[in-house]
Parts: sequence; structure tokens; C-alpha cells
Amino acid sequence: TSPQVAIIGAGIAGLSCAAALQDAHCQVTLFDKSHGPAGRMSTRQGDGWQCDHGAQYFTARDPGFRAEVARWEQAGVAAQWRPEVRRFDADGTVSRCSATERFVGTPRMTAPATWLASTLELHADSAISALRREKSGWRLHAQDGEPLERHFDVVVLAVPAPQAARLLRDVAPRHAALAAGATMEGCWAMMLQYPAPLALGFDAAFVNRGALRWVARDSAKPGRVGSESWLLHASAEWSEAHIELDGASIAALLLPAFAQLGGPAPERWSAHRWRYAKAAQARDDVCIWDGGQAMGLCGDWLNGGTVEAAWLSGRALAQRICGA
Ligand code: FAD
Repeated sequence: TSPQVAIIGAGIAGLSCAAALQDAHCQVTLFDKSHGPAGRMSTRQGDGWQCDHGAQYFTARDPGFRAEVARWEQAGVAAQWRPEVRRFDADGTVSRCSATERFVGTPRMTAPATWLASTLELHADSAISALRREKSGWRLHAQDGEPLERHFDVVVLAVPAPQAARLLRDVAPRHAALAAGATMEGCWAMMLQYPAPLALGFDAAFVNRGALRWVARDSAKPGRVGSESWLLHASAEWSEAHIELDGASIAALLLPAFAQLGGPAPERWSAHRWRYAKAAQARDDVCIWDGGQAMGLCGDWLNGGTVEAAWLSGRALAQRICGA
């Protein structure tokens, strides 16, 4: 019979692992604590309005990932984004950035994940609080501490490093210590709504001064609908230093920083705190497979902190598990 695999986390790493395992005839079940898949490839949606507030765009340099992105483009869930990008430097200079190849999900960043999940068994709103190794296999415990009925032959953790460390503490202390040692930095995001398009002369900017690191006109991405929306990301250092503030205090500090780039006061705004936005440093292992315990780890934190890295990590783990 085909192995039963539980994957905790339906971000792009978990989905990539799941899809490859399913192609190799494993029985895969995904669990995610959120309402839906995608993880940090996320989009906030409101009344006639939307904004990607996690990953902003992705690269596709690896041939395997390029082929995957081509499938996404064919399915209409991703497209190239060709923004006019500026760079604001600390010495006051403003320059034009060269045209790098950038992709986004369409009509929103969550679309590739939703598309991948459509052919997989995903249990949403299902936070896993503990793992236990029993005689007949892995037993997962739900948020309320209750064990799930089924056992699994293999368990995969496709969650950010701090969350993996917590789940592994009792069952795999060595891997738990490794995950605990991977630093992930926070990021404050602000989503701004305007009644009409802003004429700033750029669609996105890398900012190397003050609190902000990146701003982008979400409405300039392909396939977007709804009113004019802009996204601001603060730098990792600034975000870490202000991580416990509330949204209003963050807005009072970041909106003036956007004004310095020419951005007017928005009609509406919201703020989002990412506690674990990006892996601070890349590691050498693309994924971790412990055959003795039938347990694997994948995710961006193992492979360089990007969407492409996360997808590659998930696929590499599937290959390790069953030659997928
Ligand atoms: P995640 O997407 O975090 O997926 C993990 C999933 O696990 C989540 O869905 C979560 O809900 C779930 N989960 C966690 N704990 C549990 C539990 N106990 N039980 C059940 N489910 C659980 N990358 C780029 O390539 N380009 C960018 O421009 C870019 N910008 C970024 C900006 C920000 C602000 C952030 C936050 C990230 C950015 N990234 C960017 C990084 C990119 O988003 C990630 O590298 C990638 O999406 C990580 O995928 P993942 O599957 O490893 O993890």
C-alpha cells in the first residue's frame, strides 16, 4: 500500500512537497492553521480592494521551478510583473533599477497555492499542536490537544523554523535545536487604500534610508482589480525594534516615511505584523529527511528565504522521501 504522509503547513513548501509526493502515488494529507493555503504568499482582501502583504514577487532561476511557473502561467495563476522600480539611497540619490525578471500570482499572490491545493487533501483551520510517535506511526494532535484519529507513516513539517522547533521539542530534540537556531526576522507591513491612482512616477521602490525597505503599487501588478492600493514594508531592523507596537503607532511612523517618497495620506490603511517574515541567513541543507523517524522538514528557512527556495525545498524533500 502507498505510504500515508501528513504535511503540516500548506505554504508553497508544503504544497510543492505534497504535489510531488502525490505524483509518486503517496497518500498525502495537508494541515494548515489558516483558513486556506499559501502561507506567506498572502493577500488581504476587502470590499472592492486587495493587497499582497507578504511575498511581493518571486524569481524563477532554477530550471525545475521555471517549468513549474510556466505551468502556473498556463493555468492563469501567475504572470510576469514589469514594474518601474526606483532605488532611494541614504545619500539622497534616486536611481532607476534594471529590469529583473519578476513573477506574481494572478489575480493575487495566493493564486498559485490555491491552484496547487485544488487537487490535494487540505484540512484548513487545523492547527497541529503536538506530534507523537506511536507503534503504528505518527499521531498528530489538534489545537485543543486531542489526538487525530488517523496514524501516518511519514510526517513533514513545512512550517517556519520557530514553529517547527516547538513541534519537535519532545520527539526530535536534535532537529528542534537546529530549527531553534535559525533566526527569522519580523516585518511590519502597511496596506494603503486611495480613491484614485497615485502619480509617483514609479510602481515599486527599494528604500535604503529610514524605516522603510520596500514600497509597491499593488494595483500595478497584473490582473489586479479594485481600488488603488499600495504596500509598505519596513526594514527588518526597524520592524524588530518596533515589533510590539500596535497598528496605529506603526502608521504614525511609517506614513510620514512614505510621504518622504512622495506618498500622500491614504483614505484607509491597515497594518500587519509578521513575526517570522524571512530567514536571516541561508543554510546548506535544502531540506532535512530523517529516514529512521520517517520525519522531514522543508521550508524557506532551510534554503534561503524566498518563494523559489521554499518550493525547491519541498520538492527536494519529496524526492528524499520516496524518490518522487
Ligand atoms: P509559509 O508560507 O510560512 O507556510 C507555512 C504554513 O504553515 C503557513 O500557511 C502556516 O499557517 C502553517 N502553519 C504554521 N504552524 C502551523 C501549525 N502548528 N499547524 C498547522 N499549520 C501551521 N519571498 C520572495 O521570494 N520574494 C519576496 O518579495 C518576498 N517578500 C516577503 C515579504 C514578507 C513580508 C514576508 C513575510 C515574506 C516574503 N518572502 C518573499 C518570503 C516568502 O513569502 C517565503 O519564503 C515563502 O512564502 C515561504 O513558504 P513556506 O511554505 O516555507 O512557509
